[in-house]
This record gives sequence, C-alpha cells and structure tokens, in this order.
Amino acid sequence: MPSGHSPPVVVLGAGWAGLTAALTLARAGHRVHLIEAAKTAGGRARSLSLDGTELDNGQHVLVGACRETLAQMRALGVDTDTGFHALPFGLRMFAPGQADEQPAFHLEPRSPRLPALAAALYRALSQTDLRDRLRALLGAAAMLHRPLRDDLPVQDWLLARHQPPALIHALWDPLCLAVMNTPTRHASARIFQHVLRLALNHGPQAARLLIPARPLGALFPEPALQELRARGARIDLGRRVTALEQRPDDPVAPFRIHSRASDPLPARGLILATTPAAAARLLPASGPWLPTKQALQAMGARSICTVYLRYPTPPGEIGPLQGLLDQHGQWLIPRHLADAPHWLAVVISAADDQQPLTAQARWRTVARSLAATFPQLGTPEAGHTVCERRATVDARPGLDCQRPSPHTPWRGCILAGDYLTRALPSTLEAAVQSGLESAHLFLEDHP
Ligand SMILES: Cc1cc2nc3c(=O)[nH]c(=O)nc-3n(C[C@H](O)[C@H](O)[C@H](O)COP(=O)(O)OP(=O)(O)OC[C@H]3O[C@@H](n4cnc5c(N)ncnc54)[C@H](O)[C@@H]3O)c2cc1C
Repeated sequence: MPSGHSPPVVVLGAGWAGLTAALTLARAGHRVHLIEAAKTAGGRARSLSLDGTELDNGQHVLVGACRETLAQMRALGVDTDTGFHALPFGLRMFAPGQADEQPAFHLEPRSPRLPALAAALYRALSQTDLRDRLRALLGAAAMLHRPLRDDLPVQDWLLARHQPPALIHALWDPLCLAVMNTPTRHASARIFQHVLRLALNHGPQAARLLIPARPLGALFPEPALQELRARGARIDLGRRVTALEQRPDDPVAPFRIHSRASDPLPARGLILATTPAAAARLLPASGPWLPTKQALQAMGARSICTVYLRYPTPPGEIGPLQGLLDQHGQWLIPRHLADAPHWLAVVISAADDQQPLTAQARWRTVARSLAATFPQLGTPEAGHTVCERRATVDARPGLDCQRPSPHTPWRGCILAGDYLTRALPSTLEAAVQSGLESAHLFLEDHP
C-alpha cells in the first residue's frame, strides 16, 4: 500500500470504465486522481439537461445479465430494484399506420426458457408455412445451443439457421441493432450469440430488460464521485489531458500527465480509460507502441442518435419499451419511468446508416412517423436530437481478435474501456468489466 504522500495513480476518463477503475483502486487504499475532459462524469452514459429537465445523452437499456454493472451500483448504495423498471424478456414491434394499434410482430414468451421461447416463436411465425416454421424453430434453438467457433456476419448465420426473411426483419434485425449497434449484415455473430446466451441461458433474472427509472447520473457516476471524494481522491472535471510522458528514471513517479491547465502532474500509475480514438491520440507511435496504436486506430465506430420529444400533456397508454418497425428509429421509451412524464425518447441505432438530417429535421421526422403509429400521441411541443458520433465500436466479425491488450509497453500504464472486453459489444457491462480488470492488473503489480 502506498504512503499518503506518494504521487497518485491517475485515472484518465470518468466514463463508467474509469469510474469503476478509480473506485477499485481507491477502495484498495491507493491515492487516486481522476481526470476528465468533460464538465460532468459518465462519458457516453451521462445525464444532461434539456429545457430544464434531466435526461440522458442517450437512452440506455440493460439486461439482468449485466452482473458487474449492477453489482457496482449496489456497492455504492444504489437500489437497483427501484433504480430500474424491470420487464420480462419480450418484444412488441409496431409498424406505422396499423389501424388496430396492435403490434405488427410480438414475441412474448412466458419465460425465457427454451420451451417457452420455442412456443412463443412458433406463435409469432403463424403466417409461415409449417415446414419453414419448424426449420426456423430448430435453427433458433441451435443458435443458442453451442458457442460458434468461427465468426461470420449475423445475417449469414441467420440464413444458415433457416430464419425466414420476415423473422429477420421483425425480430433479428432490431435485436441485433439494439445489442450491437451494428446491422446484421456487418455484425459479429459470435458476439451477438454470446450476448443472447448470457441473457437467455441463465433464467428469468438474467433475461429481464432493465430500463433506468432515474437519470443515468444518479445510477452510477454521481454516487461514484461521492465515494471517491469521501475516500480522498482528487477529481478534476473539465481538464483535457493533451499528452502523456514516461520518465523511466523516476521510480516513484514514472509518468507525467500534461494538460493546458497546469504544470505536468506526476503519477505512480496510469489507467487510460478513454475512447480508443482518444487513447490513440495520446499514446506514442514509436517502436513497441506500434501494435497497440494500430489496434486502437483500427477500432471502427458507430453512432447513435436519441430523439427526445416533449408533449404538452403526459402521453398515456404507451408501454415502457416499444419496438418501431420501418421507421426513423427502432425503440420508443416513455421517460415518465425516469421522472420526466412529458418526454418520450426514440433511439436511432447505427444512425450513420440513415440519411443525414439536421437535428431539427430528425426530431420532426421521428415525431411524424410516431404520430402515424401512435395517433393518440398528437404533436410534440418541442424536440431535441442528441447524436453521439462514436457511441460504440463497430462490432464486426473478427473484432475479438483485433482488440488491443490492456497491457501497454509502459509498465504501470494500463488501458481500460468498453472496447477492450472480449465477447461483448460496447456496453456499460463491457466498460465496467474492463474498469475492474485494469484496476486488478495494476494491483497485481502494486499491491
Ligand atoms: C447514445 C448511446 C446509447 C447507448 N445505449 C446503451 C445501452 O442501451 N446499453 C448499454 O449497456 N450501453 C449503451 N451504450 C454504450 C455505453 O454507453 C458505453 O459502452 C459506455 O458508456 C462506455 O464507457 P467507457 O468508460 O468505456 O467510455 P466513455 O464513456 O467514452 O469514457 C471515456 C471518457 O474519457 C474522457 N476523455 C477522453 N479523452 C480525454 C482526455 N484527453 N482528457 C481527459 N478525459 C478524456 C471522455 O470525455 C469520456 O468521459 C450507449 C452509448 C451511447 C452513446
């Protein structure tokens, strides 16, 4: 354990990975200095204020299988039972202009166990002839059964498993986009299958869909900062790090952290919990760094836009999570669950694949298509579009072999972030798992 006066371990980036790493190190007795470029913590999962209402930079949904994320929240005293609205696994997909306001497709199994899933799928395929229906059922069962050895695009995997085009369109395309933020024709089947197996092979708790019932900041970033402060950590929000330097001749403080705001800060250790693009900009390009740098630069990114619509009266009669088929956006989530009763959120995954629109044109387009699907909503009085250009990594086939290692050529400098966690897409769970791993790697060398 370090003395009270030794230089701190710097954690760079206060996203969920950096916050998890900082908490783990502080709980192990290390002096921590958390540095974040933005004025708020949370990174790609943070609260923001729109028209005076606290919302999030993007609508997030978890599943019960996000065990480390939920455990981290509980360790901070967050009640995850009231912090989330839990739904049993199931989907209701709505298409525009359905006169009877019934879902165009729904899969609502009595439980996420295989027989109940098969029965629900059998019912959902009622329009398909019996032979194709049975082939699709057997194919879907095989998809969950054994882990794939070789990776391939999700679309090829679905076709090889006899999934009919109508089922791909109504179920697999939206599910894959929701999980991977990458369309089926480009997404890694191994990663998709891993997530399906985590959620669907471990009972009803793991398969639950968890919709935040509070703004994201209250679920993790704010309580995490509170505990870090209570443990004496230094927190620097609004400070952008411009360069990193190694001083191999200084055994006590082998790193210097440069920013415009102050003289270089000495550090005993460094957890670099930024996005891959930011890490690539900060790290050297020479000799031993080349493989890390190339791996970081090779991580493609995909965007997500979230449209928020505010209605003059709280929109009633809308379920907590509605799928949208053939519309500008895939999921509709009323924000009354998170204390904003006048607001609806619409998630537009892989937004780079859609026609480019200005922020205003985008929310107006979404509002029009929602009104065609849910006429009871009427016209919103205001709207906003929040786009995150680099929301997630591009979860393409072979991604797991291309991820960099968290170890770097500088001993004591460790990478963290959602993009490092094998077999998972960019998610809060991947970020938290990586934050834990980076802290444990540091602690192995600096107990
Ligand atoms: C719109 C949207 C919707 C999403 N939906 C879901 C979902 O439903 N479920 C789910 O599980 N996941 C979802 N995700 C993904 C999830 O938010 C991310 O996987 C996760 O937040 C990544 O955390 P991280 O700590 O790895 O990285 P980040 O959150 O990106 O944190 C990196 C931090 O480093 C800081 N930084 C970068 N450079 C510097 C510098 N030079 N100096 C100082 N600080 C720096 C950044 O400001 C940032 O705060 C969504 C993401 C978005 C954007």
